[in-house]
Amino acid sequence: MFTIIDLNYARCPLPFLSNELTEKISETVAKGKKSLLFFNRRGSARTLICRDCGYQFFCEHCDLAMIVHTSPTQKLLCHHCSMEYPMPHSCPKCHGTNLNSVGFGIQKVEENLEKLFPNIRVARIDSDKKRSEGIQFQEISEAQILLSTELGNTIALDDIELVVFLLLESEIAVPEYDIEEKIYTNIVYNARKGSDIFIQTFAPKSDLVRNITEWNYRDFLIHTLEERKTFSYPPYKELVHIWVRDQNKERIKDIIYKLKNKLETLKTSDIELYFDKELFTKRNNEYGQKIVLKGGNLSPLLETIEKEIFRNRGVSLERK
Ligand SMILES: [Zn+2]
Ligand SMILES: [Zn+2]
Repeated sequence: MFTIIDLNYARCPLPFLSNELTEKISETVAKGKKSLLFFNRRGSARTLICRDCGYQFFCEHCDLAMIVHTSPTQKLLCHHCSMEYPMPHSCPKCHGTNLNSVGFGIQKVEENLEKLFPNIRVARIDSDKKRSEGIQFQEISEAQILLSTELGNTIALDDIELVVFLLLESEIAVPEYDIEEKIYTNIVYNARKGSDIFIQTFAPKSDLVRNITEWNYRDFLIHTLEERKTFSYPPYKELVHIWVRDQNKERIKDIIYKLKNKLETLKTSDIELYFDKELFTKRNNEYGQKIVLKGGNLSPLLETIEKEIFRNRGVSLERK
């Protein structure tokens, strides 16, 4: 039921498509069943760099690298604000033409699958496809291979027999404290439905992989709860991010400073408060900075300062 492929040793004629996996997909197709492949990297390649001067293409509104897309057209796309540029042919810094895509994304996997299995229908279901072309139910139901970037894409189809994590690390890299729980839940859900689970990873001996393959929910739970306890995450502590967003960094600093002082005066000793004063994110031309609050019960504190918080433009609260 579980197959673990160690990518340190596996033979992959095309990136992340190991011989074992392609054989398994062929078998599944021959039985008239579907394969669902997860790969949490949108786009075709990752980013575009100039090989002569090292220039990297960034979004002018966000502090994020532009992602190369090849479908439906060649372009650079910011995954945060959806800013698009046509594919550049030369470097804006040194004017060299030696531009190179680095990294690897789901659209490349789709191209490679179509090369490997020219007679098999592949359907990619991710937000780019949803936005650009839309996803038709018929396309999904007729496809033999489904490719998805998001674990959360619940695909209520009964004929999925093979669930594949092309690179488990691409899922784990998502910066959320409960990402391992989401992976574990997804795998257990699919395995319970009777699907074969195929996991490709560079770390086959990790606790997560062991707990999955041994159906060791108890160990997974104990390990996860220990970690959450050590780092004061839910369910042991409440976790709240207070965000301040504005085009003006000075205004953000000012609000954060006032909020922080207020919170420090009012908070009880069991509440932790921190923020990184150097760290700003930039999205859609706006800077952002957050205060993190952790504590057994944050509600009384948040109620006290509620008016203070929401009186300011650009201030929002996220319960994690
Ligand atoms: Zn250059
Ligand atoms: Zn952007």
